[in-house]
Amino acid sequence: MPAGLLGIEELQRPEIEAILARAKDFQTIQHQPVKKLDTLRGKMIVNLFFEASTRTRTSFEIAAKRLGADAISISASGSSISKGESLVDTLNTLAAMHPDAIVMRHAASGAPYALARHLATPIINAGDGTHEHPTQALLDARTILDYRDSLEGLRVAIIGDIAHSRVARSNIHLLSKFGATIVLCGPAPLLPPELASIAPGVTLATDIRDAIRDADVIMMLRVQLERQHEANFPASEYFQFYGLRLEHLNLAKPHAIVMHPGPINRGREIASEVADSQRSVILNQVENGVAVRMAVLERVIG
Ligand code: ASP
Repeated sequence: MPAGLLGIEELQRPEIEAILARAKDFQTIQHQPVKKLDTLRGKMIVNLFFEASTRTRTSFEIAAKRLGADAISISASGSSISKGESLVDTLNTLAAMHPDAIVMRHAASGAPYALARHLATPIINAGDGTHEHPTQALLDARTILDYRDSLEGLRVAIIGDIAHSRVARSNIHLLSKFGATIVLCGPAPLLPPELASIAPGVTLATDIRDAIRDADVIMMLRVQLERQHEANFPASEYFQFYGLRLEHLNLAKPHAIVMHPGPINRGREIASEVADSQRSVILNQVENGVAVRMAVLERVIG
């Protein structure tokens, strides 16, 4: 199998540390007047997105361009998938044009893994169904480490629609490898008990206050209505029980940070005053997304 990036679960700690360290170098470059390097000059990256995306797709494209590579983005609605072509045929067609990597988002969990077994082109998983979103967990770790010296011993509350969240799964794997304690919290239908055993250090809570108490990091998740078949909570009721409000922050550690992978739904899982508060690092996450994806592209293609 070519060396792409499919999930956090199979990455070793040193590989993650190397990506995070390299991303730190790229953070600095983003603040320079000229942000372009030529590390990947002559390389071509294809972004193939079968699901909606603002942050991930744009930041992969910017990351590729900042490294001097060429990047093109294709979405399912504008591709021959909408004309009935199979996923394998689409991927083989793109691979025949010899890109150096394919960045792929797909609604089916495991899709990039299955394709990676058949393609010589490295695949980078930009989110597969409810399974993994590895670059999100890496950029989340980079962001936490901008505020804390280490992930070891941190208490991280992940709150919301855990059942459908690839962000939660990738973060559980990453944070657990680095010795953090993870509390998963949400309404029972969105909180699968089996997740408590996918990695060490994971516990479950159905009361948001129990999850937030003494937390160093509060990571909010969107209710993924596009994947919901079991329960559709009225927005106001959901916000009453699982929405993060300013008063909740008093329960957390004094310098706790608030994260969200986006897109945020104000008034559903997070109050505007929290999203826009000093504690919120949501836009720092977006900024770090570019640096982390530069580090990932360099590792995969460079
Ligand atoms: N952007 C993230 C994802 O693609 C989170 C979300 O959509 O709620 O999984």
